Amino acid sequence: MIIDTHAHLYYPDLYDNIEKIIEKSSENGVKKIIVPAVDLKSAEIILKMTVRFDEIYAAVGFHPGDLKGYNINDLKYLENYAKEEKVMAIGEIGLDYYWDKSEIEKQKMFFSVQLEIAKDFNLPVIIHTRESVDDAVEIVVKKKTKLLKGQFHCFSGNLQNLKSVLELDDFYVSYCGNLTYKNFKDINIIKNTPKERLLFETDSPFLPPVPFRGKINQPGYLIHTIEKLSDILEVKSDELIKIVYNNTLNLFKFN
Ligand SMILES: [Zn+2]
Repeated sequence: MIIDTHAHLYYPDLYDNIEKIIEKSSENGVKKIIVPAVDLKSAEIILKMTVRFDEIYAAVGFHPGDLKGYNINDLKYLENYAKEEKVMAIGEIGLDYYWDKSEIEKQKMFFSVQLEIAKDFNLPVIIHTRESVDDAVEIVVKKKTKLLKGQFHCFSGNLQNLKSVLELDDFYVSYCGNLTYKNFKDINIIKNTPKERLLFETDSPFLPPVPFRGKINQPGYLIHTIEKLSDILEVKSDELIKIVYNNTLNLFKFN
């Protein structure tokens, strides 16, 4: 069984065809999908989706690129959502220096407090980094206790960053469909990722794998990313799927 640990299915292009998207995922072996929120509004939509579809699970959190109009007191609402049964993680949270460098201190504060909330609720975290992986890893290392576990999604760090993440117990990395593109530069980083620390994700609707490049990504396309990952890691895709399934269940506590 394949689990897509990261798909933003509330984007209109996907949400408007949600039944078909889920059906197609299932036909392609993807039986569970974690949909990460980026703010309170998306969290509400996702929680409704989890009631409607057995396959859909939620993560709730404030994305570093979606903090406008929110202040630190709004994190108390997140705690209400975190109690919900199908909430698998606090996410996606993190740091993004690509879009908005003006609010780095606010981003860091939201990130740090959400790491603490995750510990309080004994939930893993789903971490977004963009041009910020050094700082994000540094904060996680500082906050790391036995209770803090999680995923660096769409991992884009260098070998030293990867080494730091792998030194953290109960932390995993995942790579997106752009690893199938000809100009993808981080094959060597993937080669250095132990299979036991890997998760699968699409980041739908973004970064669709070849042969769907340029289209709207969806969980049903995940197998193309998995096949390329199997090539890079020199393992049969069936075997990789089994290993990653176990990794996913180690991190996320599905009922
Ligand atoms: Zn995302």
